[in-house]
Amino acid sequence: MSQIPYKIYLTEEEMPKAWYNLRADMKNKPAPLLNPGTHEPMKPEELAGVFCEELVKQELDNTTPYFDIPEEILGFYKMYRPSPLVRAYCLEKKLGTPAKIYYKFEGNNTSGSHKLNSAIAQAYYAKKQGLKGVTTETGAGQWGTALSMACAYLGLDCKVYMVKVSYEQKPFRREVMRTYGASVTPSPSMETEVGKKILAEHPGTTGSLGCAISEAVEVATTTEGYRYVLGSVLSQVLLHQSIIGLETKAALDKYGIKPDMIIGCAGGGSNLGGLIAPFMGEKLRGEADYRIIAVEPASCPSLTRGKYAYDFCDTGMVCPLAKMYTLGCGFIPAPNHAGGLRYHGMSSVLSQLYDDGLMEATSVKQTDVFEAAETFARVEGILPAPESSHAIKVAIDEALKCKETGEEKTIVFGLTGTGYFDMVAYEKFHDGQMTDYIPTDEELQASFDKLPKMD
Ligand SMILES: *Cc1c(COP(=O)(O)O)cnc(C)c1O
Repeated sequence: MSQIPYKIYLTEEEMPKAWYNLRADMKNKPAPLLNPGTHEPMKPEELAGVFCEELVKQELDNTTPYFDIPEEILGFYKMYRPSPLVRAYCLEKKLGTPAKIYYKFEGNNTSGSHKLNSAIAQAYYAKKQGLKGVTTETGAGQWGTALSMACAYLGLDCKVYMVKVSYEQKPFRREVMRTYGASVTPSPSMETEVGKKILAEHPGTTGSLGCAISEAVEVATTTEGYRYVLGSVLSQVLLHQSIIGLETKAALDKYGIKPDMIIGCAGGGSNLGGLIAPFMGEKLRGEADYRIIAVEPASCPSLTRGKYAYDFCDTGMVCPLAKMYTLGCGFIPAPNHAGGLRYHGMSSVLSQLYDDGLMEATSVKQTDVFEAAETFARVEGILPAPESSHAIKVAIDEALKCKETGEEKTIVFGLTGTGYFDMVAYEKFHDGQMTDYIPTDEELQASFDKLPKMD
């Protein structure tokens, strides 16, 4: 066996040519999306008013294991993929751990995160359908940036509703999106009916992903030639993000490495769902076993403290109902700095896997996350996104446990992006002004009480 390099790359021949649909191997399929009026499963023709046709097919397909990646998308992927799988030798040394730590780094593109993997796919299908443009929400701005890049590449119009707190905290993100030709509106806005309603009920709200989704959906469904696209949560997004896991697995297999645990941060669940896909597939088929750990912020703990129930995907209650671990669609988390992890619910694929005991979840405090981010930045050289740093924190904790027990475990974690636009958050941390708001049981209960009544 040759020496394992710092960075494992794949050759063009070794690159995945198809996305893997984890749902095909799940015995208990994720629960279907329901029509909010009738509580019947959403029909393709109902979804086609909101989403592109090809994406509706992918969304509803629980049986096809592989979807060929279209040539044009493979061509786009070549600009920034494969992403490296890095052996964190310096971090291991710093921690003094016998554990072997690897991270899959998705921050090597201008959008700064994994989100481009699905953005290009969704924009491609919109273009193929002959649409004029797409609308979307963005929280921290990574998804909006990724979608703007994909739309600019394909010549599609892009309207982004950006959660107000991020719009204000991250003005440079906004300008990157505008550089790529997108229009960016802070949400909630007075431009939509649902935005006006939310502002009337919650004056001065800093917004949430749920609000921004409602606005983007309203604009898509009332504007000719537009559809809505979503950067996470949906099963189609996890499908596209499987490229992360497929590359990771191919790189590990190349050197005969078998991970003991796979760790990822979880907002809506797309990077984690993508990273774990082929590994979870083996686990579901009984071919291998892995510990799989989802890490979420203590301020927005949907898996660890949420309810597994049907809920709206958005605050304005215009979207279909999805069965997921949720804090309630009216839950507006404290304005913490990991904006990309502030969603109230979790992918229904991951929710089902978690409910079936096939993966673990844990939540971590914001200040601990930034401490881990700083440790990582100083030894590995990469300035991590706060979202990604949730995974770093737990990877470090697990590596330190190995130090105590002397076990040489192999840890793989997803480093989803870079944190250059998060310097206000880093500043708060350095100045000792960062807080760790954790919702009380009473606050969560008040939100659960408003979950839709199912019969
Ligand atoms: C959006 C984002 C996340 C969280 O989204 P998921 O859909 O849960 O993957 C994590 N890290 C970064 C850098 C992000 O931009």
